[in-house]
Amino acid sequence: MSLNAKTLGYCPECGNEIARDFLLIEYESGGRPARFAECPDCRNVVHPSTE
Ligand SMILES: [Zn+2]
Repeated sequence: MSLNAKTLGYCPECGNEIARDFLLIEYESGGRPARFAECPDCRNVVHPSTE
Protein backbone atom coordinates (compact mmCIF):
# COMPACT_ATOMS: atom_id res chain seq x y z
CA MET A 1 0.00 0.00 0.00
CA SER A 2 1.34 3.41 -0.87
CA LEU A 3 -0.05 6.69 0.35
CA ASN A 4 -0.54 9.59 -1.98
CA ALA A 5 -0.14 13.23 -0.98
CA LYS A 6 -3.84 13.70 -0.48
CA THR A 7 -4.08 10.94 2.07
CA LEU A 8 -3.32 11.26 5.78
CA GLY A 9 -3.46 7.58 6.45
CA TYR A 10 -5.98 4.99 7.45
CA CYS A 11 -8.59 4.94 10.17
CA PRO A 12 -7.48 2.59 12.96
CA GLU A 13 -11.14 1.96 13.78
CA CYS A 14 -12.57 0.95 10.42
CA GLY A 15 -9.59 0.94 8.03
CA ASN A 16 -11.02 3.61 5.76
CA GLU A 17 -8.61 5.90 3.91
CA ILE A 18 -8.70 9.43 5.33
CA ALA A 19 -8.15 12.32 2.95
CA ARG A 20 -6.24 15.47 3.93
CA ASP A 21 -9.51 17.38 3.88
CA PHE A 22 -10.48 15.62 7.10
CA LEU A 23 -7.44 16.76 9.07
CA LEU A 24 -8.58 18.51 12.26
CA ILE A 25 -5.31 19.42 13.96
CA GLU A 26 -1.61 18.76 13.53
CA TYR A 27 0.96 19.21 16.27
CA GLU A 28 4.34 18.00 17.46
CA SER A 29 4.54 15.36 20.13
CA GLY A 30 7.98 14.39 21.40
CA GLY A 31 9.58 15.75 18.22
CA ARG A 32 7.28 13.74 15.99
CA PRO A 33 4.29 15.16 14.13
CA ALA A 34 0.95 13.93 15.42
CA ARG A 35 -2.38 14.35 13.70
CA PHE A 36 -6.00 14.11 14.56
CA ALA A 37 -8.52 13.61 11.82
CA GLU A 38 -12.19 12.81 11.59
CA CYS A 39 -12.86 9.59 9.77
CA PRO A 40 -15.32 10.25 6.93
CA ASP A 41 -16.72 6.78 7.31
CA CYS A 42 -17.18 6.00 11.02
CA ARG A 43 -17.05 9.65 12.19
CA ASN A 44 -14.59 8.92 14.96
CA VAL A 45 -11.76 11.33 15.72
CA VAL A 46 -8.66 9.23 15.26
CA HIS A 47 -4.92 9.27 14.73
CA PRO A 48 -4.64 8.20 11.09
CA SER A 49 -2.39 5.19 10.70
CA THR A 50 0.20 5.42 7.95
CA GLU A 51 0.98 1.72 7.89
ZN1 LIG B 1 -13.20 5.05 10.57
